[in-house]
Amino acid sequence: MKIVKASEWKPRESNKQDNRAILSTVQSIIAQVREKKDEALFSYTKELDGAILDTLLVTEDEKTKAWQQVDTTFIEALQKAADRIRMFHEKERRGSWWNMENDGSILGQIIRPLDRVGIYVPGGRAAYPSSVLMNAIPAIVAGVEDIVMVTPPDKNGSIPATTLVAAKIAGIDQIYKVGGAQAIAALAYGTESIIQVDKIVGPGNQYVALAKQLVYGQVDIDSIAGPSEVVVIADNNANPAYVAADLLAQAEHDPDAAAILLTSSKQLAERVAGEVEKQLANLERVEIATESLESNGAIVLTEGIKEAVELSNQIAPEHLELMVENPWELLGLIRHAGAVFLGSMSAETVGDYMAGPSHVLPTSGTARFSSALSVDTFIKKTSLISYSKTALQQDAKHIITLAEQEGLGAHAASIRIRMEDEA
Ligand code: NAD
Repeated sequence: MKIVKASEWKPRESNKQDNRAILSTVQSIIAQVREKKDEALFSYTKELDGAILDTLLVTEDEKTKAWQQVDTTFIEALQKAADRIRMFHEKERRGSWWNMENDGSILGQIIRPLDRVGIYVPGGRAAYPSSVLMNAIPAIVAGVEDIVMVTPPDKNGSIPATTLVAAKIAGIDQIYKVGGAQAIAALAYGTESIIQVDKIVGPGNQYVALAKQLVYGQVDIDSIAGPSEVVVIADNNANPAYVAADLLAQAEHDPDAAAILLTSSKQLAERVAGEVEKQLANLERVEIATESLESNGAIVLTEGIKEAVELSNQIAPEHLELMVENPWELLGLIRHAGAVFLGSMSAETVGDYMAGPSHVLPTSGTARFSSALSVDTFIKKTSLISYSKTALQQDAKHIITLAEQEGLGAHAASIRIRMEDEA
């Protein structure tokens, strides 16, 4: 891994994909699904996934077989993870509130879950059972009643057993074999088989991401996930083997993933570089990790810990590890990060699978303005206003002034008429 001085290094620009080349394809898929509904879904699934299906809905028989196909150790691990994710998100749930003012009026907010949510689970080249839990459980804890999962089938028309088992553990019944932009269009507009939802969450490839952007407004979406990234801030006390292992855990995701170490210790920098070389050789995904480290990885030498923190705040990383002697002291200086991992035992992988917070986090610098997927992702707030006669009498003249200033006479009149009745 290259070691560079902070003064000679620049964080990469936000890694937004250029989607122009696939725009017309995705627009056409959405239009076809709106017009031909299920017929279009069957046709795209045949064309793009190579599967000829009779029905899109995963059957109970398929779910039972999936359960029998996986190891009990895998089921145990998923159940443990599900419990942890549920417990964390239970703490996050918030209730409606209202407040009686001195003048007798009541103001507040009613918090309700969304009615229907669609979860996209990527298929294609790999299965992501942990993503099923991390997207679905916060929605279930929020109280969403109708959760629909979509995921592309393989060419035999099957969904990976691990995905189906994860769905069962999360508590999702409705699973449809459809992926890509056509799945997003189906969730946004509804088809004979798939109910129209209010919000679509979950990661996917560029077809999925662009389709989500295009249907936004018709439905809500969570975010557009970019390549994953980790920043590690480490001092001389950090274990170089741990730091290297965590950088590699990030790099193995994807050639576009970014793994960055910020440190003021030249000695640590050199030892981590050596460890990366050593550990890389034993990785199964050595090619992906090597490409990621060469294109987007760096060990950056800063003047001190403060400069490391400033750089990290500029990057606003999805994951931030603080491998320093007193991580809690540094925490107050961290302004932007999707999730912060404190201390040498808090490997990012703990958060990817088990700790409890959803691993769906803001990427590509969007931690400047957005947050992890959570219970809040699946609720909406309705404002509650119940004015008393005294309150209206007190405020009437100000309301009328503001309405007239904006040239909205009917607004002013709706208050005056009440005041005249009082007279
Ligand atoms: P996917 O399910 O996102 O996409 C597969 C679908 O893409 C296919 O079913 C097909 O409909 C569509 N497609 C493929 N080629 C097409 C073409 N030429 N024209 C039209 N549609 C086409 O699965 P994937 O491709 O393996 O991608 C998964 C993505 O999800 C990866 O980028 C991975 O990094 C990401 N991911 C992110 C997270 C996270 O938490 N951020 C987690 C898991 C996966």
